[in-house]
Amino acid sequence: MEIRFLGTHNSESDSARLVSVLIDNIIVLDAGSITTGLSFTEQKKIKAIFLSHGHYDHLCGMPTYAFNNSSRTTPVFALAETLDMLKSHLIDGKIYPAFSEKVAFLKNKALQLISIKLFKSVEVNGYIVMPVPVNHPLPATGFVISKEGKCVFYTGDTGPGLTAIWENIAPQLLIIDTTYPDKLGKTALEAEHLCPGLLKIELMEFHKVKGYLPQIAVVHLYPRYEKAIRKELEMVARELGTVINIVTEDQKLFI
Ligand SMILES: [Zn+2]
Ligand SMILES: [Zn+2]
Repeated sequence: MEIRFLGTHNSESDSARLVSVLIDNIIVLDAGSITTGLSFTEQKKIKAIFLSHGHYDHLCGMPTYAFNNSSRTTPVFALAETLDMLKSHLIDGKIYPAFSEKVAFLKNKALQLISIKLFKSVEVNGYIVMPVPVNHPLPATGFVISKEGKCVFYTGDTGPGLTAIWENIAPQLLIIDTTYPDKLGKTALEAEHLCPGLLKIELMEFHKVKGYLPQIAVVHLYPRYEKAIRKELEMVARELGTVINIVTEDQKLFI
């Protein structure tokens, strides 16, 4: 399985993009940089999009993606609450066409919105994708993506307290939120994100439950604090005797 990180930050500039993860060129997890991180030709290869929750940084690429790919219909999977936010705030027929409906100037609807339920897996092109609950101010899911014995877990945005999930999954790669540096640990808890110190506790729990640590990739870094976060993550990696990949835009990992 090839995992390509299109965007790995919680904000954007000419050197940072919002979070999107591309699996084997055809499945996208979150739409922060689904258009800014992919050529038009690459966008055409996408078979399905999974959205973790309704915050803007995870949805914002959807209008331009639908505009670019309106000659076909792309399925979009998310919780009903997330799809409602996409429909009512971004592709609402006012600031952008209602791409999830049959618009007059289009032959088909560009997006087919499909609501998913926690722990109810869906199958897309041979990949099994299971939504699991994570801890965030909006209804939010992580996604467990499996195919032919390979398994990756993407948390989306989450605060601490993932232990119950570890009991049910055995990923070779964990893609996990680390937004803040440790000095903003209180803010991380309030906003339901992780900082390196909180990540360490989650990883220790994972090891306790599973007896191993998977490959780890952290995303959703706050560019303003990236230097401090990187330093602190290096220390956590040393303490746990593992490698933590602080992935950057366009980096690829393989499992
Ligand atoms: Zn969020
Ligand atoms: Zn976010």
